[in-house]
Amino acid sequence: MNVQTGFAQDVRVDFTGPYRHAINGALVDSAGSFEVFNPATDEVVAHAPNASRDQVEQAIAAAKAAQPGWAALSQDERGAYIAAYADALDAHKQELITLLTTEQGKPRHSMATTEVEYAIFWVREVAKRRLEDEVIEDTPEHTVKVAHTPLGVVGAITPWNFPVLLGLWKIAPCLVTGNTMVMKPSPYTPLCTLRFGEIAQQVFPAGVLNVVAGGNEQGAWLTEHPDIAKISFTGSTATGRKVMASSSCNLKRITLELGGNDPAILLPGTDYKPLIPTLFDAAYGNSGQWCIAVKRLYVHESLYDDFLRDFVAHAAEKTVGNGMDPNTDLGPIQNKMQYGKLKDLFADVKAQGLSVPLGGEIPDGPGNFVPITIVDNPPKDSRVVREEPFGPILPIIKWSDLDEVVRDANDTEFGLAASVWGPDRDTAIGVANRLEAGTVWVNEIHIHGIDIPFGGHKQSGMGVENGQEGLKEFTNTKTYMFRK
Ligand code: NAD
Repeated sequence: MNVQTGFAQDVRVDFTGPYRHAINGALVDSAGSFEVFNPATDEVVAHAPNASRDQVEQAIAAAKAAQPGWAALSQDERGAYIAAYADALDAHKQELITLLTTEQGKPRHSMATTEVEYAIFWVREVAKRRLEDEVIEDTPEHTVKVAHTPLGVVGAITPWNFPVLLGLWKIAPCLVTGNTMVMKPSPYTPLCTLRFGEIAQQVFPAGVLNVVAGGNEQGAWLTEHPDIAKISFTGSTATGRKVMASSSCNLKRITLELGGNDPAILLPGTDYKPLIPTLFDAAYGNSGQWCIAVKRLYVHESLYDDFLRDFVAHAAEKTVGNGMDPNTDLGPIQNKMQYGKLKDLFADVKAQGLSVPLGGEIPDGPGNFVPITIVDNPPKDSRVVREEPFGPILPIIKWSDLDEVVRDANDTEFGLAASVWGPDRDTAIGVANRLEAGTVWVNEIHIHGIDIPFGGHKQSGMGVENGQEGLKEFTNTKTYMFRK
């Protein structure tokens, strides 16, 4: 494996900006700003405006003022605006992809392109989704109808690992159901969000979608605000708890998409060789900075030695480097905070004397590069098994007893997703039934869909995104009863 640092970039975007908030249809600067870094080079690529409390208030007030007019449109009219937004995003696609690689680090030719294209596809598809009223009782005397009415102003708070996809996942369903929004991206990756906020101002009526950049404080200003009816949050479990506590001030609705420590279980007799590229990508895609990355890989003892050998050989061929280089398979860690956490975890793996057949040493910068690392059968109480690493390090664990491996897989505060792999479908489904997770894949992984609800169990979250259930989370249930 080859770790590259300091690769020169060919594709250029005007990173000097200006990057501005989008408030009430206008692009707005702030007195203060903060630096945004390229994680592959440590260079400052731009300055983002740091929203003042007044500006956050103005954004919320604009969203509140715009909401009744937006809600008064028909679903088809709102859908048409959202489809136009997908077209406008499409027209800026190449710029967004380059910007995403530059601020986030993921490879331009693969994951950054996929993220932006998939996000635009998502917006276009959600534009077609509708929540119809449901007549649940209709007798000669009486009718009962359930409608799904908008909540009002939604505050959206997003993380740094998939800033484009996770941001647009919130915007499209929020707007199609008649709400307006104030979005705040992660301070580590605000640029794409500011740009797609800017693009939105060319499409939507003023105030329908507002974007304000800032740190954690600006997020808290949203969660504690009485004019915000719902918080749609994606981020860590620790922050999710704070969001939940703060949102109690006016009983906000909350959707929390939080962390995970997803197990994958390989059953005896699995024809594992063709699965190795899939399992590698599932664990190391986006350099492991993925809520639903495979973070614990349990392999039956009958396969273990051969699997480990072949998996290490496959991983050793992969290149970690600058995401602008078309030869890069995995980019850097997105920020110094996460890079520091990984250094600490790697030091613990070393201090515990765990077997590391690949990787293990984090080179000095420039760039937050972390090598692809495999930990061979660590103890179940080791940090690399217990914690969500959020980096390119994977414990592969040998198991022999099915009840024990199911117990171990479930022995975590998290319950985001899981996967089971095996030759006999019924056996694999039987194991899947016993796993405590919001999504369980059997002999496939990381399939998502507009109509497929996604959300975590236990401390991986609350509520779902996507699907009709995800749309309904942006609405109140309103029951009408008519005496005929
Ligand atoms: P984070 O919790 O540190 O930050 C997320 C967002 O919350 C940022 O915009 C941040 O500024 C904001 N924030 C921080 N403190 C706040 C507060 N007190 N009030 C309101 N907002 C606040 O998370 P992160 O490090 O950006 O993202 C990584 C985490 O996100 C991982 O745990 C990962 O598993 C999780 N994640 C989950 C999903 C999912 O769908 N379940 C998807 C992607 C990432």
